[in-house]
Amino acid sequence: MPPQGSCTVIVGCQWGDEGKGKIVDVLAEDVDIIARYQGGANAGHTVHVGEDEFILHQIPSGVLHEGKRCLLGNGVVLDIRQFFEEYDALLARGIELDGRVGVSGRAQLLLPYHRLLDKAVENAASTKIGTTGRGIGPAYEDKAGRRGLRVADLGNPDRFHKRVAAAQERVTRRLEQLGAGSSDELEAAMEEAFGLGERLLSLATDTGSEIIGALSAGKRVLLEGAQGTALDLDHGTYPFVTSSNTTAASAATGTGIGPTLIDEVVGVVKAYTTRVGEGPLPSAFSPEMDEHVRALGGEFGATTGRPRRCGWFDSVLARHAARVNGLTGLAVTKLDVLDTLSTLDVATAYRLPDGSITEDFPADTWALASGERIYETVPGWEAPTGDVQRLEDLPANARAYLDRIQELSGAPVQWVSVGTKRSQIIPVD
Ligand code: GDP
Repeated sequence: MPPQGSCTVIVGCQWGDEGKGKIVDVLAEDVDIIARYQGGANAGHTVHVGEDEFILHQIPSGVLHEGKRCLLGNGVVLDIRQFFEEYDALLARGIELDGRVGVSGRAQLLLPYHRLLDKAVENAASTKIGTTGRGIGPAYEDKAGRRGLRVADLGNPDRFHKRVAAAQERVTRRLEQLGAGSSDELEAAMEEAFGLGERLLSLATDTGSEIIGALSAGKRVLLEGAQGTALDLDHGTYPFVTSSNTTAASAATGTGIGPTLIDEVVGVVKAYTTRVGEGPLPSAFSPEMDEHVRALGGEFGATTGRPRRCGWFDSVLARHAARVNGLTGLAVTKLDVLDTLSTLDVATAYRLPDGSITEDFPADTWALASGERIYETVPGWEAPTGDVQRLEDLPANARAYLDRIQELSGAPVQWVSVGTKRSQIIPVD
């Protein structure tokens, strides 16, 4: 038997922003390859290294560890201009990238017209989704509509330009229908994107082959998702979701490996809940509490700066996430944010508009939005946790809270994060 490495998926289990960036950064220390499997530049991972803060949108958070190989899988939609802005900003901050970043030849390209369309469609829509306006939805629509362009297409400039010209005509007509009109900026942006094509092609790789080769050489691989389970196109609060499957199974499809190669799936949850954009947040706080916890947790989007809505830990969602992702463990982040609260509520079930009570995450998003929550109240710990390094040193009520989260979610807690720094992490045996 050849040596067999290990493959772990890191997946968000709420509405994104769970602190996946920090968990990936911590776990990346012990792996060889980190690969992103879906999403685009709408994701924003914030990682603190010493006094430095890095906000990464497309390049996996593992890039901050010297020598690790970072891949963007075929499941991502890659915004060429934004990608190189991020790449060059890392170089400018002294991060060595030579031979460290690879991009799947099968990854979809997000081109400037996707951004224009995204904004125009959202402006014209009667039901707003709350998109980040970065073109992600239209790029995935082109992928599913089999009109998209992929990284490998850059290798044939003639064919590439013909297909882009056809796409631009189509987009211009659509923009006119939406009353948005095209702009001269688009031409300039397209030229800029083409100018970077060859540079991008030089990073092209077959991510699946690379990962499979690394695993059979005994190496360790992390597959990193963006957004979270409740934003998954199928399993989230549709239609207030993102345009890709965020859940763990797409870590295989989105990088080009078989699902049997995945050994572990670690779900990242905040010790409370947040949501940005439109759509229901079932366990939302009262307005005063919302403002209070937003300030304590610094809950403003890394990509857009939008304030996030905040709420109590929702175990109905956590259980749903444990099931649809096949979680083998949980990483609970931002426990320290709750340090000053005297009591905490945990949502354990939903009462639906017809009066029935469910412990399962409902498929009907509107029923989920309008019912009532059933809460269990537990005592807070009212003590700082930021310096705690071992589980047994956490206040008893904090441990009891984690135990309850574990019990209700059905997945064991493996990591507890108690601050932004790399060192503020508690492993749970
Ligand atoms: P991601 O997209 O899931 O990586 O999440 P974000 O980057 O949007 O949000 C995570 C934010 O929370 C970042 O600013 C992190 O530095 C911060 N963070 C992560 N873990 C912790 C933690 O345990 N405690 C505190 N106070 N902040 C944390």
